[in-house]
Parts: sequence; C-alpha cells; structure tokens
Amino acid sequence: MHELGLLSGVVEVIVDAADGRRVRRVALDVGTRAGVIEDALYAAWPLASGGTVCEGADLEVEVIAATVWCPACEAEREIDEFFALACPECGAPTADLRHGREFAIREVDVET
Ligand SMILES: [Zn+2]
Repeated sequence: MHELGLLSGVVEVIVDAADGRRVRRVALDVGTRAGVIEDALYAAWPLASGGTVCEGADLEVEVIAATVWCPACEAEREIDEFFALACPECGAPTADLRHGREFAIREVDVET
C-alpha cells in the first residue's frame, strides 16, 4: 500500500523532531490530486505509527481542493478532481495546476 510508505516517511520526520516526546495529533495537508486515498491513510496510520512516539496519535487529513490558473479568466479556479485540466467557468484548457498536489505535514501536537 502506497499510503503506508508515505505515512512511514511522515512518522520518520516527526519522530526525529519530537525528540522522544509523545505525539498527540498529526495533521496533514493532502491535495485531491496527490494520488493518495484519504481512507487508506486512516487505515494505514496505526500500522505506520505503531511502536513509535506517534502511536495512538490522532491523524487528521485536511483535503486541499485542486485549482488551476485560467489564463482566459485570469483567475484561480477550483476543479473537480476527476475533471480534465480545463477551466470550469469558461472551458479554456489549462495545465497550470496551482493546488491539489500537496502532501505535507500541517501541524503536530506533542506532549510538553
Ligand atoms: Zn476560465
């Protein structure tokens, strides 16, 4: 499972930064075009975090909508994750993806 590999990378980074403190909550930014399935992240979390300071921490996934820059409208437009890269307002084709590929740690709460 590809999500497990991604989360293992996240856990590694947090374990380094947490310096032995227990982690209570981990929030991730995940774009709708990041190629990640949200449910699979939640399913993989216990496995990825088990045996580390992240074990038992709450995982929160903040889904970031995909947007493109439309040169015709001169505006950033939100696109449906299943749509081709075109402006939803005027239909102009655009591959200028501005958001949606995020996969990043937004916030980590550790015990003080
Ligand atoms: Zn447009």
